[in-house]
Amino acid sequence: MSAIKTLLPGSVMPEGRLVTLGVMGGGQLGRMFVQAAQEMGYYTAVLDADPASPAGLVSHFHIQTGYEDPAGLAELAARCDAITTEFENVPAPSLQSLAATRPVAPAASAVAVAQDRIAEKAHFVACAKAGGVGPAPHAALETAADLAAVGDELLPGILKTARLGYDGKGQARVKDRAELAAAWDGMGRVACVLEKMLPLKAELSVIVARGADDQVVNFPVQRNLHRDGILAVTEVFDGNVPAELAERAIATTATVARQLGYVGVLCVEYFVIDDGSEHGGLVVNEMAPRPHNSGHYTINACDVSQFELQVHAMAGLPLVQPRLHSPTVMLNLLGDLWFQDGQAIDPPWAQILALPGTHLHLYGKLEARKGRKMGHLNVTGASVEQVQATALRCAELLGMAPWR
Ligand code: ATP
Ligand code: MG
Repeated sequence: MSAIKTLLPGSVMPEGRLVTLGVMGGGQLGRMFVQAAQEMGYYTAVLDADPASPAGLVSHFHIQTGYEDPAGLAELAARCDAITTEFENVPAPSLQSLAATRPVAPAASAVAVAQDRIAEKAHFVACAKAGGVGPAPHAALETAADLAAVGDELLPGILKTARLGYDGKGQARVKDRAELAAAWDGMGRVACVLEKMLPLKAELSVIVARGADDQVVNFPVQRNLHRDGILAVTEVFDGNVPAELAERAIATTATVARQLGYVGVLCVEYFVIDDGSEHGGLVVNEMAPRPHNSGHYTINACDVSQFELQVHAMAGLPLVQPRLHSPTVMLNLLGDLWFQDGQAIDPPWAQILALPGTHLHLYGKLEARKGRKMGHLNVTGASVEQVQATALRCAELLGMAPWR
């Protein structure tokens, strides 16, 4: 495997071209990665079959092939000095083949764990033994015998497909055994995880970046609100999460990264559950082997963003501990906001941008659809009260339900 070496920004490689960073996938995460890399002086290349992909539109090079196309992969490797991914369902064998000639971060082996909820849960259990926070009570469901062996303590529960779930897709809430059996049949009896339904008090996430030299840095703990299984709002400011919970979540995330030999930006999601204690108990939910939607606020509210740290990690540059310089609220802008009473509208950006501390990020998608991530709005300001008031006013202007 090709090892990470330092790729200085703006350097000219022996082939006579500018140092180039590549990304598998052309979505909004790839777009913001590419933008961060370009600001620092790198050329960028994106591999995504969609000619209108958000990242492809802004990259120096856009290789328009499928993720398993040998010619496309060969071109990506030829053009780039290091390669990363922006979505976790990238075929692990493609990352593996790229790694034969180029440094790839994160590695296929780490991405493969995040792609499979059964492997992911097993990793969390192993990390919990090393002192980290453990996952929800759960069972893997792969055979009829597994179904028969499910303990009553896991019901009511949530059945989740082991692979390819996101934004609440590939999930079913089941009250009893009959519903569980029917839901599993409905999913075609593919490999699944059944998780006990937990009484959630809050949802958190932690983003770390780990370098090939084992240095780990972290962003502050994010507090997330999901609606219909999709992230809606992220709030980050001092005192938003009890210090004891925050410390454990950060330590666990670092352990999850270290024990995977992970290089790059990693996000781990947590539940705070109502267990009768003052602050609640902490449970680890899942990880994303890449920058994460709950970290988009870092672009405007931190002195280094999650996308910049992805560049640092894959280019072998030093990692610096990020500092939050402003309280912040991020609103996810879903396609729903582009419709009012069934009519297509343009959201009132002029009114929103007239408010101090609003930072609009749209991903360049031509068609708004319900549930489609079109962009996000970061709000920053001098005080928590001011940021919350502005964010709530923006939500009102956008027709988004308030969360406070
Ligand atoms: P993502 O888009 O973050 O990858 P996902 O579709 O993979 O999401 P999860 O994060 O596992 O799915 O679940 C989506 C949401 O469903 C969670 O954010 C949480 O609100 C709720 N949820 C999931 N598991 C449980 C549980 N065991 N108990 C209670 N609520 C849960
Ligand atoms: Mg999730």
